[in-house]
Amino acid sequence: MTRKAVVIGGGAIGAMCALEILRRGLSVTILEPGEPGGEQAASFGNAGWLSSHSVLPPSEPGLWKKVPGYLLDPLGPLAIRPRRFPAALPWLLRYLAAGSSEEKLVRTAEALRSLLEDAPRLHARIAAEAGIRDLVRDDGGLLHIYPDRATFGREARAWRIRSGVGIEWQEMDDQSLHAMEPDLSPEYRFGVLVGEAGHCSDPGAYVAGLTGYAVARGASLLKTRATGFSFADGRLRAVRTGTGDVPADIAVIAAGIFSQPLARAAGDRIPLESERGYHVAIDAPEIVPSRPMMVHDRKIVITPVAGRLRAAGQVEIAGIAAAPNWQRAEILKQHLLATFPGLARDGAVGRLHAWQGHRPSTPDGLPCIGPSRATADVLHAFGHGHVGLASSARTGRLIGQIVAGEPPEIPLAPFSPKRFR
Ligand SMILES: Cc1cc2nc3c(=O)[nH]c(=O)nc-3n(C[C@H](O)[C@H](O)[C@H](O)COP(=O)(O)OP(=O)(O)OC[C@H]3O[C@@H](n4cnc5c(N)ncnc54)[C@H](O)[C@@H]3O)c2cc1C
Repeated sequence: MTRKAVVIGGGAIGAMCALEILRRGLSVTILEPGEPGGEQAASFGNAGWLSSHSVLPPSEPGLWKKVPGYLLDPLGPLAIRPRRFPAALPWLLRYLAAGSSEEKLVRTAEALRSLLEDAPRLHARIAAEAGIRDLVRDDGGLLHIYPDRATFGREARAWRIRSGVGIEWQEMDDQSLHAMEPDLSPEYRFGVLVGEAGHCSDPGAYVAGLTGYAVARGASLLKTRATGFSFADGRLRAVRTGTGDVPADIAVIAAGIFSQPLARAAGDRIPLESERGYHVAIDAPEIVPSRPMMVHDRKIVITPVAGRLRAAGQVEIAGIAAAPNWQRAEILKQHLLATFPGLARDGAVGRLHAWQGHRPSTPDGLPCIGPSRATADVLHAFGHGHVGLASSARTGRLIGQIVAGEPPEIPLAPFSPKRFR
């Protein structure tokens, strides 16, 4: 009899898991209360980076000294809302510990590299299969820009660790940087081009397209919310939803930031915190850079997305339920206009879109991929933090391999949900 898999969540991770499970001959039902890749999902509003070089965890040695500042400056690039502080404290302590030495950073970088290494190629392949190849760019690379070489030098440790895991880049002086991006503010005089990286030109449409492809290949899409599981004799029988039980032999928890209570229902206490992020996008921008770029001193990423220019970034620890602080979107806009001074002389009035979403983040910067404590029939596939779009393709492949009993293509130990025991 055909085994039945239920994938909980229709973001990038859920879509990729569904496709890879379908490939192994199981029947697949995707549960998603919103639209797949819709605005409720982090997968909608991200910066679109398929950055195979995003291997550093967000935490770093000595970060603890900055925590008072994070609490006091609500509009800083990393802010902790004081009201959230007590609840987030255990996660924060683990987060600080995870980045407390270079040795730990290297271990995380090695694990993330294994997950991300050929992300642009994997995405290009699956996008071609789904008939949406135009949404994935696996050439052209991604750019990092700095005011000058000295500012780049202050990030020497991060680039050294990247080099240690095999990442190569090309350094660009003032002249070559501005030849590539003529509209860039003259305040930026040094660039780093990571040629192996790629990007997605419309992450929301990409996830919707992948899900549509899964449905075309026989998956069912149910507009409902998973609430828990029904077990008998140690085996999964069904996924509980707001609209009744859905029979299941295998369930994959891929509900992004909303995965924590489901993991709990499967016996695992996973520390998961929302690193809330924002974007602003300008319609019909006067300027479109040749490729996405990270503006290091402003801590934003600028990406052309679906006819708009999107600036994404910011990390806010405020919990899931707190209202967005739209002043942050205004800050992103100011940074965008300062980076490209020829943009939006009218201040982009009437052409602006702002969005806030939840990066589903574990404290050590690594996702949870693998079986739950309660039963091997429930698999975790969440906690991808800052790199969930890029790492979705390999996560889907790993989940497909686990479901089919195939040897996983990379070691799973660093991503084991049991590491939080
Ligand atoms: C500002 C910002 C910029 C970013 N930039 C990048 C980037 O450039 N590159 C990159 O790789 N990553 C980036 N990220 C991170 C990336 O967006 C996330 O890691 C990724 O989208 C997580 O995907 P997901 O499928 O796990 O979760 P989501 O995309 O959030 O999807 C989860 C889905 O589950 C559904 N759901 C929730 N609860 C339930 C339930 N009980 N039952 C059924 N369904 C449920 C939700 O409706 C949602 O659609 C960025 C994030 C932010 C916020």
